[in-house]
Amino acid sequence: CGIVGYVGERQAQDVVIEGLRRLEYRGYDSAGIALVAEGVIASDKRAGKLANLEKAIVGQPLPAATIGIGHTRWATHGAPTDVNAHPHNGDTGRVALVHNGIIENFAELRAELETQGHVLLSETDTEVAAQLLELLVISGLDLTAAMLQLVARLEGAFTLVAVDAQDPSQVVAARRNSPLVVGIGDGENFLGSDVSAFIEHTREAMELGQDQVVTITRAGVSIVNFDGTPAEGRRYHVDWDLSA
Ligand code: GLU
Repeated sequence: CGIVGYVGERQAQDVVIEGLRRLEYRGYDSAGIALVAEGVIASDKRAGKLANLEKAIVGQPLPAATIGIGHTRWATHGAPTDVNAHPHNGDTGRVALVHNGIIENFAELRAELETQGHVLLSETDTEVAAQLLELLVISGLDLTAAMLQLVARLEGAFTLVAVDAQDPSQVVAARRNSPLVVGIGDGENFLGSDVSAFIEHTREAMELGQDQVVTITRAGVSIVNFDGTPAEGRRYHVDWDLSA
């Protein structure tokens, strides 16, 4: 129910946890984080309050990283447990993905993956998306191209945000009938379910349309429609009073 993505120069763990805290008002039953550090995904996820995740990280620190994603879950498919919490991965753990919404055709996709011998660890609709995305990336596609191929197979409403362990330069997200905004920084960029996820760091935001994939790097933001054609976001300034 809350999503954060970050790529820049700061400690991604701090930016992601702080963003999740600011999204807490949306309600959730579990929280998780994934960072890309030295070619691997480092992640932790816990049922319960964000404080449970923070406590776990204090006990078992995550490596320093400047790219990461985070999620607070409102369970729809599978109980609120550590295993069902996001992020989810494919079999090799190369890709980490978080999701808000519901993937309506997950049962068929799950059956297909199981027939191919993939082992799904959770009861979520989300894990099929993580598995499929990882297979597309392993087949040689860039994360953005893989995301476009993935969304072509999904039915339902979703915001998906993913990172690839072998590409620490970008966070890629997709949006269909589910909220997602971009925060524009200087040498850093953000993704959030709403602007409160990054309001502490930037007040420059970009609104996306429906059925779009957005790729953020340190240097910029690029958007394509689900059919692969280029798109432009709408820039705006957020002038909330933070102390309110
Ligand atoms: N359907 C997904 C799940 O149950 C995502 C729920 C959400 O939007 O937080 O894990």
